[in-house]
Formats: sequence, structure tokens, C-alpha cells
Amino acid sequence: MSNVTGLTCVICDKTYPADFAGYVCTDHGNEGILDVRYDYARIAGSWTKADLDANRNRTMWRYRPLMPVRPDAPVPPLTVGGTPMYDAAPLAADLGIARVWVKDEGRQPTASLKDRASAMAVVKAQEREAEVITTASTGNAAAALSGICASVGQKNVIFVPKTAPEAKIAQLLAYGSTVALVNGNYDAAFELCLLAAEEYGWFNRNTGFNPFMTEGKKTAGLEILEDLEWNPPDAIFVSVGDGSIIGGVHKAMKDAVGLGWIEKVPRIYGIQSDGSDFMVQAFESGEDVLTKAPISAATLADSISADLPRDRIKAMAAVTETNGAYIRVSDDDILAAVPVMARGSGVFAEPAGAAAYAGLVEAVNRGLVTATDEVVVLSTGNGLKDIAGAMKAVAAAGTKPMYVDPNLEALKMAMQKGTNE
Ligand SMILES: *Cc1c(COP(=O)(O)O)cnc(C)c1O
Ligand SMILES: [Zn+2]
Repeated sequence: MSNVTGLTCVICDKTYPADFAGYVCTDHGNEGILDVRYDYARIAGSWTKADLDANRNRTMWRYRPLMPVRPDAPVPPLTVGGTPMYDAAPLAADLGIARVWVKDEGRQPTASLKDRASAMAVVKAQEREAEVITTASTGNAAAALSGICASVGQKNVIFVPKTAPEAKIAQLLAYGSTVALVNGNYDAAFELCLLAAEEYGWFNRNTGFNPFMTEGKKTAGLEILEDLEWNPPDAIFVSVGDGSIIGGVHKAMKDAVGLGWIEKVPRIYGIQSDGSDFMVQAFESGEDVLTKAPISAATLADSISADLPRDRIKAMAAVTETNGAYIRVSDDDILAAVPVMARGSGVFAEPAGAAAYAGLVEAVNRGLVTATDEVVVLSTGNGLKDIAGAMKAVAAAGTKPMYVDPNLEALKMAMQKGTNE
């Protein structure tokens, strides 16, 4: 078996055995998300930083002792994890802070961080010999599940809002998933998917429901720490929809503390659009996220649009237990961040990815991040995921191409006009 000691409800602390066949706490239903617990003493006794150094497998599976899978469980062939983290000196200079690293999750096989969770979902589903896997998604979790299922020939059924960006829908269709384009928002797709999974007995990958998704996503946090040789940054910026990524980043920090591999935990900042700010509202008002009513979300950063963040309990703890904050940015700020981040780091992000950078700008303005701070921006998805968003962003930045006839004279005139402007 793995090093898992049990699955603990985030509401009541009731603990279920490691091989529990359900997804959520039987006393708390869909809100009773389970947290996977590990025997850190046992893991630390047989696994060291030096073992990790010697491991040439650069994928997320290099952290297998900290994952809820058997040591010999087969994993999908796509290369998930091992994404680069760049020291973006121009951005740090712009902001007047010590250092900015950008971790580029757009480099994953289906171009977003969600591959980490979907790879985990496929392993768990195959462990249970599930015939079909399903998920609802704003687009990226679906594309990730779709691609990873394709790599192992696993049947899957996907529910996405029909308004999802075309590139994400194209991925689903190319990979050959059964695709339901739901006439409603993400929250409606989520509810329908839960009903369908129950009705048909499908393996359910949904975020903020399936307890193993966070355990896949946390590998991004472990990579951040390992890349920095277990010297944690001062702060990590993460955009938040359902709150599962931020919960995963927090889990990585708790795992590393549990193993005695780090002492200081970075401040974790959650970033939301002002059109989808459930977590920011709760952070500011102190309202209990469990009982707070859903909002009506609307943002062009589709990946972080959620009326009711499904993983909100873990998401709030990630910020409050690390002395971080929830920060609200406008859609205009998010759009502005797309070219700024692309030009200052070379990483071209979709709006939800750039939102984390917009949050860093706001944090600097508010004095939450200061001159000596070294921060990581988690760029969660590739800019090619949402071309309409990218074109809006460059238009807002006033960036225009030159239109030229194919001769040198015309080019010279255009160049001169360009530089005279
Ligand atoms: C899913 C997603 C997020 C938000 O993650 P949550 O776990 O829903 O908070 C942010 N950015 C991108 C690109 C995503 O796909
Ligand atoms: Zn419970």
C-alpha cells in the first residue's frame, strides 16, 4: 500500500480508511471533502532529499512516496510535471522587489496545471477498474482528463459550459472524449456531472469532490520547493476558482514541513477577479465559507469563474494558515497582465494564469509584498488556450502590428511610422 494513513473530513475530522471507496464524508455529503493524510515519519525514514536528487524521473511521479498511489501502480505515459520555473529579472525590476520566478504550467501535455490532477484521476480510476471517468470543468480540467485518458485508451465523458473557449473545446473533440456542452455555467455543469456519475456509476474526477485531485496538484508546489533547493520563497501567488490548486500548493508546504525538509512556510496569496470573488469576500468579511451563499460569477478569466468554489475550506486555510491574503483584481488588470508577463518573462499565459501576476502587482501596491521579497507566480495555463482573450489583452495594451506591402520601401515607411509614433 501507499503511505496514506487515512482520509479526513475537512469539516468534522472523521477519518476514513485509505482504501475508502467513496469520495466525500458520509456525514457531510458534497461539502465534506476529504484530506489525504500521510505517515510522514515513515516516509522520512525511507526517502531523503538525496534519493530525490538521484531520481532521474522528472515527472510528477518522482514524489510518489507522498502520493496516494501504490509504489508499483502503472502511470499514464504522458510527461506530466517537471515544468520550468524562470527567474524573471525584468519583472522583479519593474516591481522593485528582490526576485520574481514564473513557473510555467502552460508547458504541460494539455497546456495547463490540470494535467497533474487528471493524471492522478486516471491512476485512481484504473485502480478501481472504472469503465468510464467523468468530470465537469470550465475547460482545462476537461482537456487534461481527455488527453490523459486518450494516452491510455480510457473512456471518458466531459461536461463543460458551452461558452468555454473554443481552443479548449477543440482539445476535447480532438482527443475523442464524449463531450456534453452544457447550456449553463460551470456550476450547472458540475451539478449535472455529479448526477450523471451517480446514475451511471462513473469514476468521478470532479474538483473539490474527489480527494485525490489536490494530491496531484500539490506536485507543482513540491517542484517549486525542490527547484529552490528546499529554501522556500517568501510568497507564492496562485489564481483561484474552485480553490483546489491553492489547496494543493498549501498541501505541498505541509508535506515538506511534515518531512522536516523545510521550516519556513511561504505566504500564500489567492487571486480572484472582481467578477468572481467569493473567496475574497469571505476573507474580508470573515464569513464562514461553508455557509456563505454562492455568488453570481462573471469574468473573462474563464478558468477562475465559480459561483461557489468547491474546495473553499482548503482554499481559505491555505491563505489564513500561511499569513497570506485573498486579493481581488479587475478583468482589465488581468488582461493587462497577459502581455506584461509575456514580455517580462517569456511566459504567455491565458487570463487565469496571468491573474496571479496581476495579484502580485496589487500586493506590491498595497505593501503586502516589499523590496526584499522573493516570490513565485504560478502561471497555470497557456496563452494559446484563449486566443480571443489574448487578442483583447494586446488591443487593450495598444499593441498593433504593421501592415506592409511585400517590398523594402513599404517596410521602411512602416518602420519609420512605427518609431515616430
Ligand atoms: C483551474 C484553473 C485555475 C484555478 O484552479 P482552482 O483549483 O479551480 O482554483 C487557475 N488557472 C487555470 C489556468 C486553471 O485551469
Ligand atoms: Zn464530515
